[in-house]
Amino acid sequence: MSYILVIDQGTTSTRTIIFNHQSEIISMSQKEITQYYPNLGWVYHDANEIWLSVLTTMTQAIYQKNIDPNEIQVIGITNQRETVVAWDKKTEQPLQHAIVWQSRQTQDHCERLKKEGYEAMIQEKTGLVIDPYFSASKLSWLMKNIPNIDTLIEEDRLAFGTIDSFITYKLTGNHVTDVSNASRTMLFNIHTLSWDLDLLSLFDIPLQTLPKVKPSSCMFGYTKAHHFFGNEIPIGGILGDQQAALFGQRAFSQGDVKNTYGTGCFLLMNTGNDIPKSKLGLLSTVAWQIGDQVTYALEGSVFVAGSAVQWLRDGLKIIENAKETEPHAKALLHNEGVYMVPAFVGLGTPYWSSEARGSIFGITRGTTDKHFSRAALESIAYQSYDVIEAMKKDSQLPITSIHVDGGATSNLFLMQFQADIMGLDIIKPDQLESTARGVAWMAGLTVGIYKDLEAILSIHIPSQTYHPLMSNPLREKLLEGWQEAVKATIQYKRPSLDDLK
Ligand code: ADP
Repeated sequence: MSYILVIDQGTTSTRTIIFNHQSEIISMSQKEITQYYPNLGWVYHDANEIWLSVLTTMTQAIYQKNIDPNEIQVIGITNQRETVVAWDKKTEQPLQHAIVWQSRQTQDHCERLKKEGYEAMIQEKTGLVIDPYFSASKLSWLMKNIPNIDTLIEEDRLAFGTIDSFITYKLTGNHVTDVSNASRTMLFNIHTLSWDLDLLSLFDIPLQTLPKVKPSSCMFGYTKAHHFFGNEIPIGGILGDQQAALFGQRAFSQGDVKNTYGTGCFLLMNTGNDIPKSKLGLLSTVAWQIGDQVTYALEGSVFVAGSAVQWLRDGLKIIENAKETEPHAKALLHNEGVYMVPAFVGLGTPYWSSEARGSIFGITRGTTDKHFSRAALESIAYQSYDVIEAMKKDSQLPITSIHVDGGATSNLFLMQFQADIMGLDIIKPDQLESTARGVAWMAGLTVGIYKDLEAILSIHIPSQTYHPLMSNPLREKLLEGWQEAVKATIQYKRPSLDDLK
């Protein structure tokens, strides 16, 4: 037998998943990653712990199913994006903690750049908005905080990279990354597909510290035998996690969309060769590159989705687990005019109000826990609808269906309601590991397990489709109510918390 091994290095855990050629999961191993919060808003990972978790989960996934490491034909890597690591090329040791995408420690730097008027230039070159989320300002921070950095640069020992790049360096000794990861650094020009010298100078990053950028499907190197049970196995695919999920959902055509329903929602739309410039706050990014064929995507996110359900459980304590929201919601014929706008951390696409806070409208003496559950689930669907509408406007592309994955897709009420509100088919694969599946296919293409995208499309991946059943007038009424609720949420002026002291 021969298999594809995927390393899925996420924010909360590292997993190794082994697939056969039919994309069935043969083995899986998972290890949690420690989260460090050294200061308010700062988030670190220990890069050594990440590396050890890769070795541990690979070993376990292989040996628990008695697989001969020889049978691993190719490796794919998918990863939490934007998180950065600095390491010494000579010792292979990390020089600092990994700075996680969520970390806000470079907020002041980013505010300064916005004030100095760099926003338009950065959006034009990178497709991104200035934010601490992306790698560039984190690397600037490392440049100022690594001891003896000048000597390391002089001796060409300093290496920077995203997590895929760090893992690949450890496994193969090659300092490389792929275009999808590079496009999240805010240093990469998505038009020329190269590190942008103006941006490197703005953020004070020496070019030779950065990895070589390669297509998503290519030979990135071979494992050093001592790191892979005596075998030299090719790494044939690398993709950032959201792009991997888009590929794993087989969203290969222009206008195809995927939505991942987790803590928040992540939506990506394949825009083909086009790089639409968003007017509504969506990001333009590289989806993947196969050969010299580059595919782009528009990306938007909903900040609070599944976490609204967590709030019902942990904050309000009206449910014991997330599943209970489904019978709650189904017990009502409709929302009875109750809307929740879960703007716990402001509102994102397309409203962009950082001041807004969450609100609930339309409650009466008859409102119960069921209404709260239903309103929370409906809010996930309305917010995703808002992002999809923004994508339609920015891309000028029609959308015919949405591919979905993520933990909250187990809620069947949510799936049907989403189909109803969008007026679109919602397609949910039975095997929800789209991210790992995506990069497994990318790696499989490189070594010829799959001849082309057609071959991947012919693999049978069982799925459920939810068709829209709601009448148009009802749908429009519900959406009107939501839009009123959002408007009122944005207009509501809270007293300053300082005034309440
Ligand atoms: P993440 O990758 O962001 O941690 P997951 O994909 O694991 O998220 O999904 C977990 C989220 O989905 C949680 O926020 C949880 O509240 C929500 N969730 C899980 N099951 C359900 C359900 N049956 N109904 C509604 N929400 C759910």
